Amino acid sequence: MILPIVQVGDPVLRARAAAIAPSDLPSLSGLITDMQATMRDAPGVGLAAPQIGRSLQLAVIEDTTDGLTDEQRLARERRSVPFHVIVNPSIQPIGDEVVLAYEGCLSFKGFVMVVPRARRVRVEALDEHGTPVVIEASGWYARILQHEIDHLHGIVCCDRMDPRTLSTVENRERFPPG
Ligand code: ZN
Repeated sequence: MILPIVQVGDPVLRARAAAIAPSDLPSLSGLITDMQATMRDAPGVGLAAPQIGRSLQLAVIEDTTDGLTDEQRLARERRSVPFHVIVNPSIQPIGDEVVLAYEGCLSFKGFVMVVPRARRVRVEALDEHGTPVVIEASGWYARILQHEIDHLHGIVCCDRMDPRTLSTVENRERFPPG
């Protein structure tokens, strides 16, 4: 089932989402399936539970890099990431390299903005079965993890953006930065 995506201004995007007891995960498998379908339909590379109105520490991620040229993949340090689920994540930057890039958000429909993000991160989380996982990521995948985990803490991309870069998607294409 495709779920409606909450847009900025809804207080659920500003709440700190509740941690999930591992024993509750089996009952959330239907929600995870719906979030996967909703992310793919949007389409997006990540979706956090608050974005579909559920204040839970749960996000789904998948980056197929479909439709990108090798040049675009290289420029964004973007590689395919298979579908996976993160539950109750914690995140730490690795090193102090920061990368600036335009990003969008399914809860800021039609807008993009430059957001500085750590180039590399380490995430500790549970998967959908409650198994602990450690993820070390760099480049675009690290950006996705930071963006989705921010959602679980009530932080959205405009909190971290360079405010003068905010643009509609249309105008970003019309007026490419020099
Ligand atoms: Zn988002």
